Amino acid sequence: MCGVFGAYSARDFVAEEVYLGLSALQHRGQESAGVAWIDENSRVNAIKGMGLVHEALSQSVLSNAPATSAIGHVRYSTSGGSMMQNAQPICANYAQGPVAIAHNGNLTNFLRLREELENRGAIFQSTSDTEAILQLMAHQPRRRPLEALLRALAEVRGAFSLVVLIEEGLVAARDPWGFRPLALGRRGGNYYVASESCAFNLLGVSFVRDIEAGEALLINESGLTSYRLPGGPKRRWLCSFEYVYFARPDSIIEGRSVYRARHEMGRKLARSVSDESSPPYAGPPDVDFVAPLPDSGTTAALGYSQESGVPFEAAVVRNRYVGRTFIQPTQKVRELGVRIKLSPSQDLFEGRKAVLVDDSIVRGTTAGLVVSMIRECRAEAVHLRISSPPVRYPCFYGIDTPSNGDLAAANNSLEDIARAVGADSLSYLSREDMVDAIGLPPDSLCTACFDGKYLDGRDGCGDGACPSCERVCKKIC
Ligand code: AMP
Ligand code: SF4
Repeated sequence: MCGVFGAYSARDFVAEEVYLGLSALQHRGQESAGVAWIDENSRVNAIKGMGLVHEALSQSVLSNAPATSAIGHVRYSTSGGSMMQNAQPICANYAQGPVAIAHNGNLTNFLRLREELENRGAIFQSTSDTEAILQLMAHQPRRRPLEALLRALAEVRGAFSLVVLIEEGLVAARDPWGFRPLALGRRGGNYYVASESCAFNLLGVSFVRDIEAGEALLINESGLTSYRLPGGPKRRWLCSFEYVYFARPDSIIEGRSVYRARHEMGRKLARSVSDESSPPYAGPPDVDFVAPLPDSGTTAALGYSQESGVPFEAAVVRNRYVGRTFIQPTQKVRELGVRIKLSPSQDLFEGRKAVLVDDSIVRGTTAGLVVSMIRECRAEAVHLRISSPPVRYPCFYGIDTPSNGDLAAANNSLEDIARAVGADSLSYLSREDMVDAIGLPPDSLCTACFDGKYLDGRDGCGDGACPSCERVCKKIC
């Protein structure tokens, strides 16, 4: 998962706005950040660094950058390691001029493309899949950059929401399946593109529309020109996990408020007597209060409380200065991270029964540690409720889910998971209820990490080959 932001103006300098837009997208990536623009000598310039936006970039330098168009990126590595070399935007001055690319998503045919390109003489500077797009453009030295880009995008498969700077203007493009969101905004004569509409609020930018799946939109002094990428699929594959966890609740994706979707997931969770439950659960438990695992479970817990009439208590406190624990690289650090980040209030839990709501269980680390901390508070009962279905399959489209072996629900029954995390009962939202809560047509959503139905229609990976990219993937075998 990453965040991209682009700004185009005929006269204003916009690099500082890109910095601010990236700050609003910080939840989509904390490993590195970068901003790129094309200068008056037609050279591409970039400032990149490791860490959070304010650590990686200098706001004062960017506020003075002579950039009337600029793009930016916050990174969370899903393809290629977490290193400076892979920080984006990826930039080059090639035969046809300057180009800078910022990408959210994963290209599933990257390894094959890379091999083909290397056989044709390409020298890759990074291990990031995004560089394949640049290399595909560079291998068409006689075509104008826009045409070369459109042809390059026709060759890549998988997930991409991109902002690209070329001399012809700013291009926003989204893969034909529409895996990752990408929004278009406007303020006066300036145009903005962002992974999520929440980045517009801060800049007083009005949301115009989503960039469509399979659309490449050129923004320049002539206005907006929309191109269709070839090979439109029969159905869309918008990531349902964006609504469950990744996106900010104040974002609107494909016309659907992330907050409302999450709230509805919580309501449905309170109503459901799901098949995905562990004994002795047989319906809503008799508890004193419902508490979220903050922040990821907060909106669903509110919905749960409102639907069930069980009082809501903010009984687990989050240290807001510690980032998302999932990005910590080792299991040891990950476990410590949860303890640093979350702390249950003894006063609220002691001698009482609670429902604890979180959005998902991946490895089970967070739930296990929080439930054991709540037990230390001498709670009488802790019932865990998860506002999405069990995550049983890895993601190949830009989310860092671990391999099957590490996914709690891939290998264990729900009873085993409940026992492992120490909960009195455990239940999940059904896939149907999740899709219903999102409120978009079921066949427009990707739910592959829940049901194993990947892009090409094959179920899971039976034979150890990734169903999307047809290569044997370490994540699975
Ligand atoms: P785990 O501790 O491995 O079970 O991870 C579950 C926790 O991480 C939940 O609290 C989620 O909110 C959060 N989470 C789920 N998926 C992701 C992801 N791909 N990246 C970061 N955090 C995640
Ligand atoms: Fe999203 Fe899951 Fe599909 Fe990945 S597999 S794109 S996380 S729904």
